[in-house]
Amino acid sequence: MNAKDLCPEELEQFVVSFGEKPYRASQIAKWIYRDNAISFAQMTNLSKEFRSSLDKNLLLNSTMSVAEEKISRDGTIKFLFELFDGKRIESVLIPDKTRMTLCISTQVGCAIGCTFCLTGRIGKIRNLRASEILDQYLMVNKRDTRRITNLVFMGMGEPLDNFDNTLRALKTFTNKDYIGLSPKKITVSTSGLIPRIRELGNQISINLSISLNAPDDELRNELMPINRRYPLKDLIEVSRNFPVPKRKSLTFEYVLIKGVNDSSDDARTLGKLLRGIRCKVNLIPFNEANPLPYHTPDTEQVANFQRILISYGINARIRKNRGRDIMGACGQLAANYPTSEVMKGRKKIRDHELRQS
Ligand code: SF4
Repeated sequence: MNAKDLCPEELEQFVVSFGEKPYRASQIAKWIYRDNAISFAQMTNLSKEFRSSLDKNLLLNSTMSVAEEKISRDGTIKFLFELFDGKRIESVLIPDKTRMTLCISTQVGCAIGCTFCLTGRIGKIRNLRASEILDQYLMVNKRDTRRITNLVFMGMGEPLDNFDNTLRALKTFTNKDYIGLSPKKITVSTSGLIPRIRELGNQISINLSISLNAPDDELRNELMPINRRYPLKDLIEVSRNFPVPKRKSLTFEYVLIKGVNDSSDDARTLGKLLRGIRCKVNLIPFNEANPLPYHTPDTEQVANFQRILISYGINARIRKNRGRDIMGACGQLAANYPTSEVMKGRKKIRDHELRQS
Protein backbone atom coordinates (compact mmCIF):
# COMPACT_ATOMS: atom_id res chain seq x y z
CA MET A 1 0.00 0.00 0.00
CA ASN A 2 1.16 3.53 -0.76
CA ALA A 3 1.38 5.95 2.19
CA LYS A 4 -0.73 8.43 0.18
CA ASP A 5 -3.62 5.92 0.14
CA LEU A 6 -4.11 6.67 3.85
CA CYS A 7 -6.13 9.75 4.82
CA PRO A 8 -5.03 11.72 7.92
CA GLU A 9 -7.05 9.61 10.41
CA GLU A 10 -5.87 6.37 8.82
CA LEU A 11 -2.21 7.42 8.86
CA GLU A 12 -2.61 8.37 12.52
CA GLN A 13 -4.10 4.94 13.34
CA PHE A 14 -1.27 3.35 11.39
CA VAL A 15 1.51 5.07 13.38
CA VAL A 16 -0.28 4.35 16.68
CA SER A 17 -0.39 0.66 15.75
CA PHE A 18 3.43 0.77 15.81
CA GLY A 19 3.41 2.18 19.33
CA GLU A 20 4.18 5.74 18.15
CA LYS A 21 2.45 8.96 19.21
CA PRO A 22 -0.35 10.21 16.86
CA TYR A 23 1.56 13.43 16.02
CA ARG A 24 4.11 11.33 14.14
CA ALA A 25 1.52 11.08 11.34
CA SER A 26 1.70 14.84 10.74
CA GLN A 27 5.49 14.67 10.70
CA ILE A 28 5.38 11.97 8.03
CA ALA A 29 2.77 13.93 6.06
CA LYS A 30 4.97 17.03 6.11
CA TRP A 31 7.83 15.05 4.60
CA ILE A 32 5.58 13.60 1.89
CA TYR A 33 3.42 16.55 0.92
CA ARG A 34 5.61 19.58 1.69
CA ASP A 35 9.17 18.28 1.31
CA ASN A 36 8.49 15.79 -1.50
CA ALA A 37 10.39 13.03 0.30
CA ILE A 38 10.95 9.96 -1.83
CA SER A 39 12.11 7.63 0.94
CA PHE A 40 11.39 7.11 4.64
CA ALA A 41 15.16 7.30 5.29
CA GLN A 42 14.92 11.06 4.68
CA MET A 43 12.54 11.48 7.65
CA THR A 44 15.28 12.20 10.15
CA ASN A 45 12.97 13.37 12.93
CA LEU A 46 11.67 9.77 13.25
CA SER A 47 13.61 7.00 14.98
CA LYS A 48 15.68 4.64 12.84
CA GLU A 49 13.57 1.63 13.93
CA PHE A 50 10.32 3.38 13.06
CA ARG A 51 11.65 4.45 9.65
CA SER A 52 12.64 0.88 8.95
CA SER A 53 9.14 -0.37 9.95
CA LEU A 54 7.56 2.24 7.67
CA ASP A 55 9.81 1.15 4.86
CA LYS A 56 8.77 -2.48 5.27
CA ASN A 57 5.04 -1.70 5.35
CA LEU A 58 4.39 1.28 3.08
CA LEU A 59 5.38 2.47 -0.38
CA LEU A 60 6.26 6.09 -1.05
CA ASN A 61 6.79 6.12 -4.78
CA SER A 62 4.87 8.21 -7.31
CA THR A 63 2.00 6.16 -8.74
CA MET A 64 2.24 7.56 -12.29
CA SER A 65 4.46 9.02 -14.95
CA VAL A 66 3.77 11.74 -17.50
CA ALA A 67 3.25 10.05 -20.88
CA GLU A 68 2.39 13.22 -22.78
CA GLU A 69 1.96 16.94 -22.21
CA LYS A 70 0.01 19.13 -24.63
CA ILE A 71 -0.10 22.91 -24.46
CA SER A 72 -3.08 24.78 -25.87
CA ARG A 73 -2.92 28.12 -27.68
CA ASP A 74 -4.72 29.59 -24.66
CA GLY A 75 -2.07 28.32 -22.19
CA THR A 76 -4.06 25.35 -20.89
CA ILE A 77 -1.92 22.24 -20.38
CA LYS A 78 -3.25 18.69 -20.66
CA PHE A 79 -1.30 15.90 -18.98
CA LEU A 80 -1.67 12.28 -20.00
CA PHE A 81 -0.56 10.11 -17.08
CA GLU A 82 0.33 6.45 -17.27
CA LEU A 83 -0.50 4.48 -14.12
CA PHE A 84 1.39 1.51 -12.64
CA ASP A 85 -0.77 -0.99 -14.58
CA GLY A 86 -0.50 0.81 -17.91
CA LYS A 87 -3.96 2.42 -17.62
CA ARG A 88 -4.20 6.09 -18.53
CA ILE A 89 -5.88 9.21 -17.19
CA GLU A 90 -5.79 12.92 -18.01
CA SER A 91 -5.56 16.08 -15.90
CA VAL A 92 -5.84 19.64 -17.14
CA LEU A 93 -4.07 22.71 -15.78
CA ILE A 94 -5.92 25.94 -16.52
CA PRO A 95 -3.95 29.14 -15.84
CA ASP A 96 -5.91 32.36 -15.42
CA LYS A 97 -5.01 35.92 -14.38
CA THR A 98 -5.50 35.28 -10.69
CA ARG A 99 -5.68 31.50 -10.32
CA MET A 100 -4.19 28.23 -11.43
CA THR A 101 -6.88 25.57 -11.56
CA LEU A 102 -6.10 21.88 -11.87
CA CYS A 103 -8.87 19.60 -13.12
CA ILE A 104 -8.25 16.07 -11.88
CA SER A 105 -9.63 12.59 -12.61
CA THR A 106 -11.04 10.08 -10.14
CA GLN A 107 -11.55 7.05 -12.39
CA VAL A 108 -10.12 5.48 -15.52
CA GLY A 109 -13.13 6.01 -17.78
CA CYS A 110 -16.60 6.45 -16.31
CA ALA A 111 -19.68 4.30 -15.75
CA ILE A 112 -22.26 7.08 -15.99
CA GLY A 113 -22.39 7.31 -19.77
CA CYS A 114 -23.55 10.89 -20.32
CA THR A 115 -24.16 11.07 -24.04
CA PHE A 116 -22.27 14.36 -24.52
CA CYS A 117 -19.02 13.19 -22.90
CA LEU A 118 -16.13 11.25 -24.40
CA THR A 119 -15.09 9.77 -21.04
CA GLY A 120 -18.56 8.24 -20.74
CA ARG A 121 -17.95 6.46 -24.05
CA ILE A 122 -14.96 4.62 -22.62
CA GLY A 123 -17.01 3.00 -19.89
CA LYS A 124 -15.55 2.49 -16.44
CA ILE A 125 -12.22 0.67 -16.42
CA ARG A 126 -11.34 1.12 -12.77
CA ASN A 127 -11.41 3.46 -9.78
CA LEU A 128 -8.33 5.49 -8.94
CA ARG A 129 -6.72 4.95 -5.56
CA ALA A 130 -6.46 7.95 -3.25
CA SER A 131 -2.71 8.09 -3.99
CA GLU A 132 -3.46 8.31 -7.73
CA ILE A 133 -5.90 11.18 -7.20
CA LEU A 134 -3.36 13.04 -5.03
CA ASP A 135 -0.40 12.32 -7.32
CA GLN A 136 -2.00 14.23 -10.21
CA TYR A 137 -1.77 17.35 -8.05
CA LEU A 138 1.69 16.53 -6.67
CA MET A 139 3.16 15.75 -10.11
CA VAL A 140 1.80 18.91 -11.76
CA ASN A 141 2.81 21.04 -8.78
CA LYS A 142 6.38 19.77 -9.09
CA ARG A 143 6.55 20.34 -12.87
CA ASP A 144 5.09 23.84 -12.97
CA THR A 145 6.66 26.75 -11.09
CA ARG A 146 3.26 28.41 -10.70
CA ARG A 147 1.36 27.31 -7.60
CA ILE A 148 -1.96 25.50 -8.04
CA THR A 149 -4.60 27.61 -6.29
CA ASN A 150 -7.81 25.76 -7.16
CA LEU A 151 -8.77 22.16 -7.63
CA VAL A 152 -11.78 20.82 -9.50
CA PHE A 153 -12.84 17.16 -9.54
CA MET A 154 -14.18 17.40 -13.09
CA GLY A 155 -11.76 15.24 -15.08
CA MET A 156 -12.35 11.63 -16.04
CA GLY A 157 -14.87 9.76 -13.91
CA GLU A 158 -17.70 10.39 -11.47
CA PRO A 159 -15.98 11.29 -8.15
CA LEU A 160 -18.87 10.00 -6.04
CA ASP A 161 -18.82 6.63 -7.81
CA ASN A 162 -15.35 6.29 -6.27
CA PHE A 163 -16.55 7.69 -2.98
CA ASP A 164 -14.08 6.31 -0.43
CA ASN A 165 -10.96 7.24 -2.35
CA THR A 166 -12.31 10.65 -3.34
CA LEU A 167 -13.09 11.36 0.32
CA ARG A 168 -9.64 10.15 1.45
CA ALA A 169 -8.01 12.45 -1.11
CA LEU A 170 -10.23 15.39 -0.09
CA LYS A 171 -9.26 14.96 3.56
CA THR A 172 -5.57 14.97 2.63
CA PHE A 173 -5.99 17.97 0.33
CA THR A 174 -7.73 20.03 3.01
CA ASN A 175 -5.92 19.00 6.21
CA LYS A 176 -3.68 21.89 7.35
CA ASP A 177 -0.84 19.52 8.31
CA TYR A 178 -1.02 17.73 4.97
CA ILE A 179 -1.56 19.62 1.67
CA GLY A 180 -3.62 22.34 3.32
CA LEU A 181 -5.73 23.69 0.44
CA SER A 182 -8.76 25.70 1.52
CA PRO A 183 -12.05 23.75 1.05
CA LYS A 184 -13.35 26.95 -0.58
CA LYS A 185 -10.87 26.37 -3.41
CA ILE A 186 -11.94 22.80 -4.10
CA THR A 187 -15.00 21.79 -6.13
CA VAL A 188 -16.37 18.30 -6.55
CA SER A 189 -18.60 17.80 -9.56
CA THR A 190 -21.23 15.09 -9.71
CA SER A 191 -23.78 13.80 -12.17
CA GLY A 192 -26.17 13.37 -9.24
CA LEU A 193 -25.62 10.20 -7.17
CA ILE A 194 -28.05 11.32 -4.49
CA PRO A 195 -27.14 8.99 -1.58
CA ARG A 196 -23.45 9.81 -2.07
CA ILE A 197 -24.14 13.56 -2.19
CA ARG A 198 -25.81 13.23 1.23
CA GLU A 199 -22.91 11.17 2.53
CA LEU A 200 -20.35 13.66 1.24
CA GLY A 201 -22.23 16.51 2.92
CA ASN A 202 -22.15 14.59 6.22
CA GLN A 203 -18.40 14.06 5.97
CA ILE A 204 -16.93 17.29 4.62
CA SER A 205 -17.77 20.88 3.70
CA ILE A 206 -16.67 21.45 0.13
CA ASN A 207 -17.96 23.21 -3.00
CA LEU A 208 -20.37 21.03 -4.89
CA SER A 209 -21.18 21.32 -8.55
CA ILE A 210 -24.13 19.43 -10.01
CA SER A 211 -23.93 18.58 -13.68
CA LEU A 212 -27.54 19.36 -14.68
CA ASN A 213 -27.68 19.81 -18.46
CA ALA A 214 -31.46 19.58 -18.87
CA PRO A 215 -34.42 21.40 -17.31
CA ASP A 216 -36.77 18.39 -17.16
CA ASP A 217 -36.65 14.64 -16.59
CA GLU A 218 -37.52 13.65 -20.14
CA LEU A 219 -34.52 15.39 -21.66
CA ARG A 220 -32.21 14.60 -18.76
CA ASN A 221 -33.05 10.88 -19.03
CA GLU A 222 -31.85 11.08 -22.60
CA LEU A 223 -28.62 13.00 -21.95
CA MET A 224 -27.74 11.51 -18.57
CA PRO A 225 -29.09 7.96 -17.96
CA ILE A 226 -28.36 8.39 -14.23
CA ASN A 227 -31.46 10.61 -14.12
CA ARG A 228 -33.72 7.55 -14.46
CA ARG A 229 -32.44 6.42 -11.11
CA TYR A 230 -32.16 9.82 -9.42
CA PRO A 231 -34.71 12.21 -10.98
CA LEU A 232 -34.42 15.98 -11.01
CA LYS A 233 -36.89 16.78 -8.23
CA ASP A 234 -34.96 14.65 -5.72
CA LEU A 235 -31.62 15.94 -7.00
CA ILE A 236 -32.64 19.57 -6.53
CA GLU A 237 -33.96 18.77 -3.06
CA VAL A 238 -30.70 17.14 -1.91
CA SER A 239 -28.66 19.95 -3.47
CA ARG A 240 -30.53 22.57 -1.48
CA ASN A 241 -29.41 20.95 1.75
CA PHE A 242 -25.76 20.45 0.85
CA PRO A 243 -23.44 22.24 3.34
CA VAL A 244 -21.25 24.32 1.00
CA PRO A 245 -18.49 26.38 2.73
CA LYS A 246 -19.46 29.77 4.22
CA ARG A 247 -20.08 32.56 1.70
CA LYS A 248 -20.11 30.01 -1.14
CA SER A 249 -23.05 28.82 -3.17
CA LEU A 250 -23.96 25.65 -4.98
CA THR A 251 -23.01 25.45 -8.66
CA PHE A 252 -25.03 23.91 -11.46
CA GLU A 253 -23.23 23.09 -14.70
CA TYR A 254 -25.28 23.21 -17.88
CA VAL A 255 -23.66 22.07 -21.13
CA LEU A 256 -25.53 23.88 -23.90
CA ILE A 257 -26.03 21.66 -26.95
CA LYS A 258 -27.29 23.17 -30.20
CA GLY A 259 -30.93 22.33 -30.86
CA VAL A 260 -31.08 19.89 -27.93
CA ASN A 261 -31.27 21.84 -24.66
CA ASP A 262 -30.57 25.48 -25.61
CA SER A 263 -34.01 26.88 -26.48
CA SER A 264 -35.72 29.82 -24.77
CA ASP A 265 -38.31 27.37 -23.39
CA ASP A 266 -35.53 25.26 -21.87
CA ALA A 267 -34.08 28.39 -20.26
CA ARG A 268 -37.46 29.39 -18.81
CA THR A 269 -38.11 25.87 -17.45
CA LEU A 270 -34.64 25.88 -15.88
CA GLY A 271 -35.25 29.35 -14.43
CA LYS A 272 -38.42 28.08 -12.72
CA LEU A 273 -36.69 24.93 -11.48
CA LEU A 274 -33.85 26.81 -9.80
CA ARG A 275 -35.74 29.89 -8.62
CA GLY A 276 -35.12 30.51 -4.93
CA ILE A 277 -32.01 28.33 -4.67
CA ARG A 278 -28.79 30.10 -3.63
CA CYS A 279 -26.73 28.99 -6.60
CA LYS A 280 -24.83 29.97 -9.68
CA VAL A 281 -25.21 28.38 -13.09
CA ASN A 282 -22.21 27.82 -15.34
CA LEU A 283 -23.26 27.67 -18.97
CA ILE A 284 -20.79 25.62 -21.01
CA PRO A 285 -21.17 25.73 -24.80
CA PHE A 286 -20.78 22.11 -25.94
CA ASN A 287 -17.29 21.17 -27.17
CA GLU A 288 -17.51 19.21 -30.39
CA ALA A 289 -15.60 15.93 -30.37
CA ASN A 290 -15.71 12.96 -32.69
CA PRO A 291 -17.81 10.70 -32.51
CA LEU A 292 -20.22 12.65 -30.28
CA PRO A 293 -23.34 13.49 -32.32
CA TYR A 294 -23.85 17.06 -31.06
CA HIS A 295 -22.90 20.60 -32.04
CA THR A 296 -21.83 23.85 -30.38
CA PRO A 297 -24.69 26.36 -30.07
CA ASP A 298 -24.55 29.81 -31.69
CA THR A 299 -23.09 32.57 -29.54
CA GLU A 300 -26.37 34.51 -29.69
CA GLN A 301 -28.33 31.48 -28.47
CA VAL A 302 -25.97 31.09 -25.51
CA ALA A 303 -26.32 34.79 -24.64
CA ASN A 304 -30.12 34.51 -24.95
CA PHE A 305 -30.16 31.51 -22.58
CA GLN A 306 -28.08 33.46 -20.07
CA ARG A 307 -30.36 36.54 -20.31
CA ILE A 308 -33.45 34.44 -19.57
CA LEU A 309 -31.86 32.82 -16.52
CA ILE A 310 -30.78 36.23 -15.21
CA SER A 311 -34.38 37.45 -15.62
CA TYR A 312 -35.33 34.71 -13.12
CA GLY A 313 -32.83 36.15 -10.63
CA ILE A 314 -30.24 33.44 -11.31
CA ASN A 315 -26.52 34.16 -11.32
CA ALA A 316 -25.71 32.64 -14.73
CA ARG A 317 -22.25 32.84 -16.28
CA ILE A 318 -20.93 31.66 -19.61
CA ARG A 319 -17.83 29.56 -19.04
CA LYS A 320 -14.88 30.12 -21.34
CA ASN A 321 -13.93 26.96 -23.15
CA ARG A 322 -10.29 26.37 -22.39
CA GLY A 323 -8.02 23.83 -24.06
CA ARG A 324 -10.40 22.93 -26.89
CA ASP A 325 -7.60 22.65 -29.47
CA ILE A 326 -5.83 19.97 -27.39
CA MET A 327 -9.04 18.07 -26.54
CA GLY A 328 -8.67 19.24 -22.98
CA ALA A 329 -12.02 21.01 -22.57
CA CYS A 330 -15.06 19.81 -20.67
CA GLY A 331 -16.34 16.45 -21.99
CA GLN A 332 -13.32 15.89 -24.25
CA LEU A 333 -11.08 13.73 -22.04
CA ALA A 334 -10.48 10.23 -23.40
CA ALA A 335 -6.81 9.48 -22.58
CA ASN A 336 -6.35 7.88 -26.01
CA TYR A 337 -8.93 5.14 -25.27
CA PRO A 338 -11.24 4.17 -28.14
CA THR A 339 -14.60 5.91 -27.89
CA SER A 340 -16.69 4.68 -30.79
CA GLU A 341 -17.19 0.91 -30.67
CA VAL A 342 -16.80 0.26 -26.97
CA MET A 343 -20.16 1.74 -26.00
CA LYS A 344 -22.24 -1.42 -26.46
CA GLY A 345 -19.77 -3.76 -24.80
CA ARG A 346 -19.41 -1.45 -21.84
CA LYS A 347 -23.13 -0.94 -21.33
CA LYS A 348 -23.50 -4.09 -19.27
CA ILE A 349 -20.61 -3.08 -17.03
CA ARG A 350 -22.10 0.38 -16.67
CA ASP A 351 -25.52 -0.91 -15.69
CA HIS A 352 -23.92 -3.21 -13.17
CA GLU A 353 -21.82 -0.39 -11.68
CA LEU A 354 -24.85 1.85 -11.33
CA ARG A 355 -26.77 -0.87 -9.50
CA GLN A 356 -23.88 -1.01 -7.00
CA SER A 357 -23.83 2.74 -6.39
S1 SF4 B 1 -19.84 13.97 -17.75
FE1 SF4 B 1 -18.79 13.17 -15.92
S2 SF4 B 1 -20.26 11.69 -15.09
FE2 SF4 B 1 -20.90 12.06 -17.19
S3 SF4 B 1 -19.86 10.46 -18.38
FE3 SF4 B 1 -18.52 12.27 -18.41
S4 SF4 B 1 -17.10 11.94 -16.73
FE4 SF4 B 1 -18.84 10.55 -16.40
